[in-house]
Amino acid sequence: MSPIRRGHSELSVVRPNLGRMTAMVHDEQVSEPAAEAEDARAPRRPSLSPSRAADFKTCPLLYRFRTIDRLPERKSLAAVRGTLVHAVLERLYDLPAPRRTVEAAQELLAPAWAELREEPGVADLFAVAQEEGRDSTPAAPESVDAWLASAGKLVERYFTLEDPTRIQPDGREELVEVTLPDGLLLRGYIDRLDVAANGALRVVDYKTGSTPREAFEGKALFQMKFYALVLWRTRGVVASQLKLLYLADGEALTYAPDEGELIRFERTLQAIWSAIERAVATGDFRPNKTRLCGWCDHQAVCPAFGGTPPAFPAEAAAAAGWQTRLPVVELD
Ligand code: SF4
Repeated sequence: MSPIRRGHSELSVVRPNLGRMTAMVHDEQVSEPAAEAEDARAPRRPSLSPSRAADFKTCPLLYRFRTIDRLPERKSLAAVRGTLVHAVLERLYDLPAPRRTVEAAQELLAPAWAELREEPGVADLFAVAQEEGRDSTPAAPESVDAWLASAGKLVERYFTLEDPTRIQPDGREELVEVTLPDGLLLRGYIDRLDVAANGALRVVDYKTGSTPREAFEGKALFQMKFYALVLWRTRGVVASQLKLLYLADGEALTYAPDEGELIRFERTLQAIWSAIERAVATGDFRPNKTRLCGWCDHQAVCPAFGGTPPAFPAEAAAAAGWQTRLPVVELD
């Protein structure tokens, strides 16, 4: 393990003796269920979460479609698998420490899947994938069993990264939120929070995709710095370690932020929020066409692809607590 300097902080990459799979940065985006979970547990007033901030940075119009218009998006098998694996790893820590074995974790898959498949649209995903065929969707599994087995592999690989019998989490799926002095509400859900006897904090996030290439590590750490900032502002403690566990290739990224960095990061979030507020006030959300558009569900209504966005839902935005100067448009 060779540490790499990143500014004032240290980034180390742990590479266990496992074959590296092809890294796909977008894999993280399609498989990460955090954004969906955040939306399901809607905030009381406009707030900023790591995924929504990342949306705005990626494409302001995508932010609008997801947060203001709340346009529906298709679920994906990768995203549902991410949700399933997160549920298993969360429940693993319900067991007494000595019973947190690979076998016990595998046994948690079936009941978690039984709950998940009852959610609207989930069971249909398999029919669609198989109808489209493996030629058009190479990632489509042959069967539910094959898909479940792939989830089981991710769970098994978790045990190459940590020994859960030696960890006693302080929180799982923990809501953290803080209102900054300027009124900006930050909120998000931490997969796992560990607190050492000396009070040191470790923030852990499970990723069902592969480790990002080095050029994209900063993007991966954005979410973790967000959590570190909220913890620092609420507990007065700078997290000792931010840890991302990539289950697809069995690698981990760890990072130790410092106070100065969190102060600068707070300013970055405030700047993003100001830009969002300006966009809401004027309805001016620009599309930003990138290769990530390939995974966007909204191309049909995106000007970058010849589409026309729906009228800005000023009434819904105002009802949700946004300040907008736009007139309310009556829809048919
Ligand atoms: S297709 Fe691309 S540019 Fe258009 S809204 Fe989606 S992410 Fe933005």
